[in-house]
Amino acid sequence: MAPRANVDQPDIPCYSHATKKGGGMALKVDQDLCTGCGLCAQICPEVFEIGDDGYSHVLKGADETLPCVDEAIDQCPVGAISR
Ligand code: SF4
Repeated sequence: MAPRANVDQPDIPCYSHATKKGGGMALKVDQDLCTGCGLCAQICPEVFEIGDDGYSHVLKGADETLPCVDEAIDQCPVGAISR
């Protein structure tokens, strides 16, 4: 019997196009949630900085795999950091 086409697969989102080198999702700060408290930049200055706009930004070329990134995600009081 010939194999069936994959027409009965459930709707599973494909993240392959959204992943970065290393397999993680892109780290980002939701500017609508960020209060600019600066905590993430204190915890993980290698990755986060408070911009001229008063909100946190992910530094270009930063090593997003640093352990302090996870701590910053956990400590952000408004849950603005995600990956
Ligand atoms: S800890 Fe959260 S709210 Fe504070 S500056 Fe960082 S992203 Fe913004």
